[in-house]
Amino acid sequence: MPQVTEQQVRDALKNVVEPEAGRDIISLGMVSGVVIRDGNVGFAIEVDPRKGPRMEPLRKQAEQAVMALPGVVSVTAVLTAHREAPSGPATPSAGRPGTAARASAAPAGAGERPLVPGVRAIVAVASGKGGVGKSTTAVNLAVALAVLGHRVGMLDADIYGPSIPRMLGIAGRPTSPDGRTLRPLENYGVKCMSMGFLVAEDTPMIWRGPMVQSALQQMLRDVEWGDLDILMVDMPPGTGDAQLSMSQQVPLAGAVIVSTPQDIALLDARKGLNMFRKVDVPVLGIVENMSQFVCPNCGHVAHIFSHGGAEREAERLGVEFLGAVPLDIAIRETSDSGQPIVVSHPDSPQARTYLQIAERIWDKIATGPGERPQAPRIVMQ
Ligand code: ADP
Repeated sequence: MPQVTEQQVRDALKNVVEPEAGRDIISLGMVSGVVIRDGNVGFAIEVDPRKGPRMEPLRKQAEQAVMALPGVVSVTAVLTAHREAPSGPATPSAGRPGTAARASAAPAGAGERPLVPGVRAIVAVASGKGGVGKSTTAVNLAVALAVLGHRVGMLDADIYGPSIPRMLGIAGRPTSPDGRTLRPLENYGVKCMSMGFLVAEDTPMIWRGPMVQSALQQMLRDVEWGDLDILMVDMPPGTGDAQLSMSQQVPLAGAVIVSTPQDIALLDARKGLNMFRKVDVPVLGIVENMSQFVCPNCGHVAHIFSHGGAEREAERLGVEFLGAVPLDIAIRETSDSGQPIVVSHPDSPQARTYLQIAERIWDKIATGPGERPQAPRIVMQ
């Protein structure tokens, strides 16, 4: 069986005409993120969000056009919300080389990333690699911010392991009363939306990459977040192209990097730092997770990894050290069972640590690390 090529896919899609514009979807620059693997083809069609529901037949037609090619086993086309760039041709495809340079050339304040109406500040929680406790930290900080009286949302963009709903004790799926926007689910005063809700768990990984890019925009704009003081985004772990382009697409007020002591030593945290600097997003600071071990029996504190190294390293890197969270079985048990320690044991030292970090993050957001965040700017759709 011949291997289908991207060119063949694009050629086939030249026969698919966007009825309202009267031109084909390739020449309109609507197709992005073409992925081909063993005859399985996936791509995104960027549409004007106002036309979204009317474009479903176009999506089907596009799938059929590609399906007709020899060697194609399956086709998945997703409609994504396209926003007109302020100038120039079609929106740059996510993850394409060169987009980083574009962003870094943009003035600080990232005018190309329209703010989300009603949301005062969006903060990414990121890590250099998986398994460092990024989601656990993000959830406890989000709940802590709610405890402090802020209106908080949490967007689970960690599509490779969406765990936020479980950690927030949320079951079920979001509803869409009007068929256009999704209503987030809520617990502990945190409104939550997860990409995991939209992408079936058995969706092969290969499809998830391009879907992340497109789904992210929709989750920001087509979810009824209402008025929020802060929207935390749990990023996928790592600092690759997907993370970089996500950081570019979202109007981030800042980023928090979660790291274990070893990662800080092993430079993983530094990669995260450099990524955000590249796209002009201020790094609010580093949270050191699993910093020391508190014995559940005797309360003895053991510094399994070198103590104080993270703080020194943060200083050297010129970022704030936001705090150290211990490696503690109670943190694991509570977050894994959907009762984050900040709400289930609010007087515990661990909860106080999260509250202090949350307070510091809020201070930095409210006063702004420089020029951000700006007052909410209303963007007309
Ligand atoms: P990531 O989002 O970085 O992949 P998770 O937040 O999912 O990591 O955490 C991985 C595992 O480590 C989870 O089972 C979580 O409960 C546990 N964990 C995270 N932080 C701590 C901590 N400070 N103490 C004990 N266990 C933790």
